[in-house]
Amino acid sequence: MPDSSPNLAWSGAVLREPQGRGRLLPVPEPAPPIARVIEAVRREAADAVVLRLDCGHPRHVRHRPPLSSHPWVLDDEACAQRVGHRIECLRCGQRQLPEHAEPYRRTAEFDEHTVPAGLRRAHTTKRGVWGRLVVERGELPLCFDPPLAIEVVARPGEPVIIPPELPHSVRPRGPVRFAVEFLRVRSDDG
Ligand SMILES: [Zn+2]
Repeated sequence: MPDSSPNLAWSGAVLREPQGRGRLLPVPEPAPPIARVIEAVRREAADAVVLRLDCGHPRHVRHRPPLSSHPWVLDDEACAQRVGHRIECLRCGQRQLPEHAEPYRRTAEFDEHTVPAGLRRAHTTKRGVWGRLVVERGELPLCFDPPLAIEVVARPGEPVIIPPELPHSVRPRGPVRFAVEFLRVRSDDG
């Protein structure tokens, strides 16, 4: 998808010199993980569970020391106690739209004159709600506040994915026509 390598495009402009070589290579900064709430735990194996997070992503957790040490995974009761607690989601930091996210609403189309003031100020989608900034004409920079702290530009055919609950604002700087779609993952298992 066109939105898959924004982290390389943004603050990845850091240049470092690899040891022993006389040239500079771009070093992308890793996307920060985002803390999400565990909604459910499903057992996959005696030493592995899948967590359903409130962002809509699954997270696999295994107890296979020394590589991966999470002894609580072995115990059903300890797993159940994790529900409602937070755990870091790497995919949210990478702004990966969850596989089963479905659009359920779309705003009217706006241009550089009709952008609602609320979109120019820092705002967020609600828990579990993803946004997709779709540009029909021109381009529209979208700035994420920390923890993401990146600017990404939406263009025709290159929508920007907006993870739930992360503050962001649009920064029109020329003619543009765009809309925002809202998506979520329907949870049908307990
Ligand atoms: Zn996530």
